[in-house]
Amino acid sequence: MVSEAEIARAAAVIRGGGLIAFPTETVYGLGANALDAAAVAKIFELKGRPASSPLIIHVTSIEMARNLVTEWPSEADQLARRYWPGPLTMVLPKAAAIPDIVTAGLPTVGVRVPSHPVALKLIGQAGLPIAAPSANRFGGLSPTTAEHVRRAFGDRVEVLDGGPAGIGIESTVVSLAGGKLTLLRPGMISLGDLEQASVPSGSHPSPGMHPRHYCPRTPLLLVGGLQSLPDGPGAFVWWNTPGFRGRSVRMPPEPAAYAARLYGVLHELDQENRPWIAVEAPPETPEWAAIRDRLRRAAG
Ligand code: AMP
Ligand code: MG
Repeated sequence: MVSEAEIARAAAVIRGGGLIAFPTETVYGLGANALDAAAVAKIFELKGRPASSPLIIHVTSIEMARNLVTEWPSEADQLARRYWPGPLTMVLPKAAAIPDIVTAGLPTVGVRVPSHPVALKLIGQAGLPIAAPSANRFGGLSPTTAEHVRRAFGDRVEVLDGGPAGIGIESTVVSLAGGKLTLLRPGMISLGDLEQASVPSGSHPSPGMHPRHYCPRTPLLLVGGLQSLPDGPGAFVWWNTPGFRGRSVRMPPEPAAYAARLYGVLHELDQENRPWIAVEAPPETPEWAAIRDRLRRAAG
């Protein structure tokens, strides 16, 4: 766990223009002062992230979020009151103080209040909004533990160890530009959840949402069942169909618990250097949409 002294030191690193990896409830983030272009550039460099992929800015409150945007429609207010702190990122027209590098040159910015005590203390003590993508090399598996971050970056960045991420996959991203709700990236808060709390909606892909993303090094296949497995000492990740005689991992048959385990299981199997990882496709129902999205991208 993380001591007060560690958080104070990390906050000083952020204020000084450095990077800190920190836990959130979704995945671990690689953070920098969102108002300092040179600090944010270090994130892109360390991750090998293309400049076309915008970052999410993390804040501690609605008030702090409102300082980063030029519009705060009533829909944003409703959703923030309902879901923050939590795994919902809202994209709104950006304030001039945010350097262009943060938003990949877009006139909009993604903001959210994470629901993790360490993240909230870090942002609070830094006294600054923190821009942070997931703390992994670009395109790779997102980290859900401090160990995953250390494997990716070694001692190039200090990691605050807040234990395993509780949600386990990236936040839901919605645009609210013009007061209209558009799903940009599915997450564990579903479009259905948001529609109940807000206005009618549509869906289009976010910039930086590459078809191949969240990939382990080992080739990953999404399969319907045991009959479609290739030969060789691969691993089978299943939720419904047991019976594989080789390396297999049983996943929870319920989406929230499945999401919380997914990246951890893939990181672990990836360390085993097998010829393939086959994942049994999850159900085609809305509550599994975010998990299906990540698995499709991981399968490239
Ligand atoms: P990551 O922090 O690695 O999960 O990536 C952040 C993701 O948030 C990006 O890949 C985009 O999909 C989305 N995002 C952030 N800012 C914006 C924005 N201004 N407009 C649209 N999507 C955004
Ligand atoms: Mg990422």
